[in-house]
Amino acid sequence: MAALISEIIYRGIFQKNLAARIARGIVFSARKSGRWGIAFGRYGDSPQRNGIPAKDFAIVADSKEELEQNMARFEPKHTDVSIALDDTLAKGVESWAWYGLQPINRLTVPNGTLLMTSVQTFGDLLKDIHKKDAPYTLALLRAKASFSGLWVYKEDHTEARVLGALARIAPSFLSLDAVCQAIKEMEWGSDLKVESARKTHDRVETRAVKVTEGNAEIPYSFELPKWWEMREGVTIPAHFTHLPKEAGKGYVPERNPYFKKFTTRTMRPVIDFDKCVKCTLCWIQCPDSCFDVMPDATYDANMEACCGCGVCEAVCPVESCITMVNEAVFDDNASQWEMWRKDQAQYATWMASKIGDKKATARSHGFRFRGQYDEELKRSFEDGGLAVTAGIPGENAQHKAL
Ligand code: SF4
Ligand code: SF4
Repeated sequence: MAALISEIIYRGIFQKNLAARIARGIVFSARKSGRWGIAFGRYGDSPQRNGIPAKDFAIVADSKEELEQNMARFEPKHTDVSIALDDTLAKGVESWAWYGLQPINRLTVPNGTLLMTSVQTFGDLLKDIHKKDAPYTLALLRAKASFSGLWVYKEDHTEARVLGALARIAPSFLSLDAVCQAIKEMEWGSDLKVESARKTHDRVETRAVKVTEGNAEIPYSFELPKWWEMREGVTIPAHFTHLPKEAGKGYVPERNPYFKKFTTRTMRPVIDFDKCVKCTLCWIQCPDSCFDVMPDATYDANMEACCGCGVCEAVCPVESCITMVNEAVFDDNASQWEMWRKDQAQYATWMASKIGDKKATARSHGFRFRGQYDEELKRSFEDGGLAVTAGIPGENAQHKAL
């Protein structure tokens, strides 16, 4: 008896429908392979929010008994295949129902597989993916992240391509023929999608990852209080609204010290402090109170708190003062303002390199205007739709008043 346990790690809302299609496709393919299967979402991630890491699971088993045994658990503790649908998830995942940051490969079993959609190199991804105490295989499906929304779906074949890759990774559970038959019979299937699955089956790239490889950083974590340590009754303690910075010349808003929101982010604001006119709009409008007020009255977005919504870029009245850039091109959450204060010329060079990085263009928050997906899909599926519709990053620049 044997089972194949897989998790599908995705960006809440943006990839909700995509993940559900993949999970359903796995189960349907299992049935076509003469096996049993079940798919379910992670209860703790509902209701979802834009971009927040979330999970679906799919289990394929040789027999009903084996499937029932796996279903008896709240959720799998280990997965044979972890599927990450966006490469910025490589930095780790923290949904609002988890307790600290989890490495993307945390549940992957020794010698299991982490499958990602990415246009980055293996080496670049391994700078972000945390080290693991067992070897595993990193498999890449060459494509940029497929983002859409609750009411729109981006028909770029990502679901079919992931299923084709799975047939290559776990052929004893999901044969390619079974996967193709399942895709063809799905309500969203087509001959073209079957072809995409076959192509991906042949083209998926793999690399063995040793225990010595990966990001050595210890992920953020904290101790949950024991039940006997909790206070009686329901009280909401008062707290400071802000902490003064540099003798009160600036200040830092009080934030939840435990919930670090940055793994929700797929883009981050890069700020040109020399252009800032100190209008306060970013600070007022940021839905997550991410901006620290600096002693010179400019505003620094705190990268542990920023969820990458892009509101600050949209409201800033100054052209190219705030630019949203693909999260994949950053290696840390250090303060941009401190970097700028230390060496303004060096900061200008850093900023230009980040905004101009080719990888930064392969990013979109999803559906932004009517016809966008059609425009993107005109690009070749062969290159994974590398170039996105013109205007990213700095898409709002031409509309600025200043
Ligand atoms: S992108 Fe800007 S507005 Fe959105 S959370 Fe980050 S700092 Fe705040
Ligand atoms: S919105 Fe732009 S100009 Fe206004 S304070 Fe923020 S960064 Fe400066």
